[in-house]
Amino acid sequence: MTPRVLEILKQLMAFDTVSSQSNLALIHYVRDLLLTKGIESLIVQDESGKKANLFASTGPKEQPGVLLSGHTDVVPAAGQAWTFPAFAATVQDGRIYGRGSCDMKGFIALAIDAMLDAADHNLTRPLQLALSHDEEIGCVGVRRLLDVLHLAPVRPFLCLIGEPTNMQFVLGHKGKGSYRTYCRGLEAHSSLAPRSVNAIHVACDFIAALRESQRQLQQHGAQDHDYDVPYSTVHVGQIVGGKALNIVPNLCTLDFEVRNLPADDLDQFLDQMRERAEVIVREAQKLSSVAAIEIETLNVYPGLETHPTVEAVSFLKQFAAPDVGTSKVSFGTEGGLFKQRLDVPVVVCGPGSIEQAHKPDEFIEISQMDAGAHFLQGLLGSLKA
Ligand SMILES: [Zn+2]
Repeated sequence: MTPRVLEILKQLMAFDTVSSQSNLALIHYVRDLLLTKGIESLIVQDESGKKANLFASTGPKEQPGVLLSGHTDVVPAAGQAWTFPAFAATVQDGRIYGRGSCDMKGFIALAIDAMLDAADHNLTRPLQLALSHDEEIGCVGVRRLLDVLHLAPVRPFLCLIGEPTNMQFVLGHKGKGSYRTYCRGLEAHSSLAPRSVNAIHVACDFIAALRESQRQLQQHGAQDHDYDVPYSTVHVGQIVGGKALNIVPNLCTLDFEVRNLPADDLDQFLDQMRERAEVIVREAQKLSSVAAIEIETLNVYPGLETHPTVEAVSFLKQFAAPDVGTSKVSFGTEGGLFKQRLDVPVVVCGPGSIEQAHKPDEFIEISQMDAGAHFLQGLLGSLKA
């Protein structure tokens, strides 16, 4: 890792880009830095104008390029027991400590450095950079950028998502849908409970239906043994209902998620759950017409499945360590959205370990930064004329 990369990383980490905060200062820093080499950036703001994505390209515009992609937001440090300053880079014992060091400003620093380097050379294909916001809260920000890139006349040849994988190739992850369900009943004195509709009981019936759907997915759904859990999963994570023991509750909300293999269709799953909800509601409405179950979608992102034999993978392998492995992971990335919207092969590979992400005293090994730098230098070398 060169002093320039470390300097860029220090600057990036000094911006508090927790997802709830604006990332504009960081985006403007990157824009200005790229401009010092004559690279123009496209800034795509969110509706509030407080956050933005950035896209930049250097090299021949008419050729499909290599797109390096990262998210600029980080998870909060508040409430965690940090011994190092969270929003500064502390170099110590062969590591760089601080929020975002491994997830994923380390990679972004390397990618920016590669862009600056690329601008000094004649390229046969462009090198491109995409920086997003609000990845950590469900891959929310990048969608606006993809709306724009989707319309570009030339799509990238491949997309590299630099999430921390210890420089291994990750070719797949599950998709995820998060949903809030409102179960409605009729309030009454609890002594008259059987004559009313208990919203918590309605929720229990719906949870039973969700658990039945899990059994069916496990037994009859898609299977992929590259994952720890080889089938799509369904889980209720939160439930809120009732005011007092002597009141039949009229509302119970529950949040559930589905983490689906790309082969299992989320829309189809949701249609089935709505049908099951209808059966439960029809029964409850015999007591009161106010009985209802409403399912609201909170967030959905697609899974990723890149076939190991595609050209993009063998192309990238030239620059990786000789023993580089390919795998699938349990965490989600923006990769599924890039694949879905741009129809481009996606490989997730970046320095650092997901083990260190989201934790107090997050760090990245300098040796990982070096490995990442080596990889991107090889990649850039192959684009030079
Ligand atoms: Zn990340």
